[in-house]
Amino acid sequence: MKDINTYPFEGKRAIVRVDFNVPLNDDFSIRDTSRIDAAIPTIRKLLDEKAAVILMSHLGRPKGTEERFSLKHLIPYLSKVLGLEVLFAKDCVGEETTEMAKNLKSGQVLLLENLRFHPEEKKGDENFARQLANLADVYINDAFGTAHRAHASTAVIAKFFPEDKMFGYIMLGEIESLEKVLHNAHKPFTAILGGAKISGKIEVINNLLDKVDNLIIGGGMTFTFIKAMGGAIGDSLVEDDLQEMALEAIRKAKDLGVQLYLPVDAVIADKFAEDAQTKIVNINDIPGGWMGLDIGEESVRKFSEVISNSQTILWNGPMGVFEMEPFAQGTKAIADAVAAATQKGAYSLVGGGDSVAALEKYDMKDKVSYVSTGGGAMLEYMEGKKLPGIEAIRE
Ligand code: AMP
Repeated sequence: MKDINTYPFEGKRAIVRVDFNVPLNDDFSIRDTSRIDAAIPTIRKLLDEKAAVILMSHLGRPKGTEERFSLKHLIPYLSKVLGLEVLFAKDCVGEETTEMAKNLKSGQVLLLENLRFHPEEKKGDENFARQLANLADVYINDAFGTAHRAHASTAVIAKFFPEDKMFGYIMLGEIESLEKVLHNAHKPFTAILGGAKISGKIEVINNLLDKVDNLIIGGGMTFTFIKAMGGAIGDSLVEDDLQEMALEAIRKAKDLGVQLYLPVDAVIADKFAEDAQTKIVNINDIPGGWMGLDIGEESVRKFSEVISNSQTILWNGPMGVFEMEPFAQGTKAIADAVAAATQKGAYSLVGGGDSVAALEKYDMKDKVSYVSTGGGAMLEYMEGKKLPGIEAIRE
């Protein structure tokens, strides 16, 4: 593996796997440009070093070729931020594209059409990966969002660049931040997990229990724990088949000396709606017909105190249904607590689509140490899994 900071790019064609999977409006304008913006430092570095730059990405989940998922919609914005005219290849492979890549000059940028217009991309097809590889002299993976996928452009392609493969700046930043938290955390280390369900997070809980001093649980997954311990949860979200897993996690925490904090109270509602009637009750006493949709004030106080005393904080998943105003207070308060602890010197990593959306909503993205851009990839990293996109570069 090579280093983007020292590699001699001059006169080379560099192919970069970026994550340009941005949300588009009906008129194909870009609703949120942050994924493109995040990739600019890597692209700029390559241009500064006089490489010819080829960009490849997926966009959405097309079934075959679908015009609305064309990456050509990104050209105006990309050209604007880079301050040059970005060229476009109507297919990511094939003769015409090969010709365009061959003629690409140092300082020019060529964007390839959506990789997922070819089913071979997701299948990790070797022949397809070879065709992409043949377009360039050096491969850079800067798509953390798809690092947990063994697709042609994210992992398989790397084998065709045994001496000329490396991470871009997004990947370097994500890996550094996750390593710092998972393997070099200053103590006390507190993880905060929220979101709707335990399923999909049980592995994360298990892996984190070996590392943290405190584990705070909020969000919908709370109620599986509470029910398993005999509390009344009314009509709150629950995964009955995971109750045993929840009890197992409680036991494991006790064995390892990890403090496990569950909410002690909840904001409950008589329906899943913004205009529901609400009240705050003890977490174990939710009446039938009511559901817990946010953590209550007492929980906020307790959680904030734990966060305030932490040196390392990892936060994934909202504390309640923060998309609806009456149930957003818990998530907002936890964001404030994480920001305040960061201000005092703690290192904080926040990730997962919804926690990041919450930080954005409250304009707090720059008040935490690092915001992870890859939801699924971050969760798999937190599970302790090896990610194909990372391994392929390191091998
Ligand atoms: P996840 O994708 O698992 O991180 O879940 C995020 C979603 O969990 C958000 O859309 C929240 O609205 C939802 N959520 C958080 N707390 C609750 C709750 N108590 N009941 C139902 N949904 C919740």
